[in-house]
Amino acid sequence: MGESFYSATCEENFVASKPGSEESFDVCIVGGGIVALSCAQALNNSGIKVAVIEKERIFSGASGVNGGFVAPGYALGMEDLEKKVGSEHARKLFEISLGGVDKVKSNILFYGIKSASVAHGKIDLLRYNPSRKEIEYPERMSRLYGYDIKPMEKKDLEGMLNTESYCYGFYHSRAFHIHPLNYGLGVARSIQAEGVAIYENREVESIRKASGGYDLVCVGGIISCKEVVVCTGGTPGKDPEIIKKSILPISTYVVTSEKNDEIPEKYIKTECALGDNRRASDYYRVVDGDRVLWGGRITAFPTSRKKGIEDQIRQDIRNVFPGLSGLKFSYSWKGVMGYATHKMPCIGRLDSGVWYCTAFGGRGLGSGTACGEVLAKALLGDEESLGLFQEFGLKNTYGFLGRIAVEATYKKYIIKDRLDEKNKS
Ligand SMILES: Cc1cc2nc3c(=O)[nH]c(=O)nc-3n(C[C@H](O)[C@H](O)[C@H](O)COP(=O)(O)OP(=O)(O)OC[C@H]3O[C@@H](n4cnc5c(N)ncnc54)[C@H](O)[C@@H]3O)c2cc1C
Repeated sequence: MGESFYSATCEENFVASKPGSEESFDVCIVGGGIVALSCAQALNNSGIKVAVIEKERIFSGASGVNGGFVAPGYALGMEDLEKKVGSEHARKLFEISLGGVDKVKSNILFYGIKSASVAHGKIDLLRYNPSRKEIEYPERMSRLYGYDIKPMEKKDLEGMLNTESYCYGFYHSRAFHIHPLNYGLGVARSIQAEGVAIYENREVESIRKASGGYDLVCVGGIISCKEVVVCTGGTPGKDPEIIKKSILPISTYVVTSEKNDEIPEKYIKTECALGDNRRASDYYRVVDGDRVLWGGRITAFPTSRKKGIEDQIRQDIRNVFPGLSGLKFSYSWKGVMGYATHKMPCIGRLDSGVWYCTAFGGRGLGSGTACGEVLAKALLGDEESLGLFQEFGLKNTYGFLGRIAVEATYKKYIIKDRLDEKNKS
């Protein structure tokens, strides 16, 4: 599909490091997304000589094309996480992800990345009347996680969204949204100035064991290091086989509309990021003052049929804001996220000694930042936080069959969402 709104409006100018004549590092990180940069920043702050090696441009993967919502939590919802690991363990994992949210904000302030265009708040929207359990959700999040969520009644929502679609909402005051590409390039520029080598257009074709560490066979020559970290997200094509087999690449789509004064003045009168709580959800926000950026739809078998996807998203917008049915799109694009079958990140070390930190699904800005730091700590000898992720190991996704299962589950989700809305409204 086409160019993203973010690359068309990018204000950062990052220049990659020049390959040296002899290239040797303490740690090399494969991939140049949010996880890699976070890990590199933490290692560099501890005096480790580190290189980030990206096959295309920094933040050209999911990290630079996403919705821009920065919020705590993981692709696996907190309730499912609690069921899996118990409430105390879940609380520690939530706290880690919240640390990632705060880290993104502190990086923006510390490095002065104004072009990240921070806007505050996120509202989760319900398309049906809330159940008792949903009404109690903010109190529960406050008691168990110390996290503040404010309920929003239909009348509160009506003041800011010109639609009949929503009955209730949850306002997250600590969440925010950003221009992710400007953020990433701003961080890259800043940590490069602090000493991190950041290479672009250097695909790592293989990782070989060598005396004292590893040789990375890359475009442009071999790079040697004592430790390697693989952070390749949804594009693990050249990774060790066991990582490749554990990642389901899932495509998802975003559009950004033409400029239209009516969007902020009449339809979306809030700077908050918005998303419904469907299993197969829609999310959107106003960008550039008077455009709507709208994301949704997933598939395990990516399509390049730009028009087909645009038509589906236009229908999604029309369902919520019938008055915007004629809206034209200036940009539409696709991104690929990496999922594990358990929907939690995979962080750890292979028998070969290679480290990995991947599979953040659709929730990588906060949790990916946090887990990059978790991995850096482990490399420095403190594996306490890493231990919290151990039970979500690398699990086979069964390739083509796994993708078919994703498609079937997604279709099932759409039906379940509609039934829930019909029954509860
Ligand atoms: C459309 C879309 C919307 C999303 N919306 C949100 C959102 O609003 N909020 C949120 O928190 N998350 C969102 N996500 C998810 C989030 O973007 C990801 O979870 C996160 O960016 C993953 O970061 P990463 O560093 O693991 O992977 P990536 O950003 O994909 O980085 C991996 C990098 O590795 C490189 N690479 C791969 N193989 C090699 C190799 N052999 N050699 C060198 N480099 C290699 C790739 O080129 C890529 O740049 C969204 C994702 C998409 C696609």
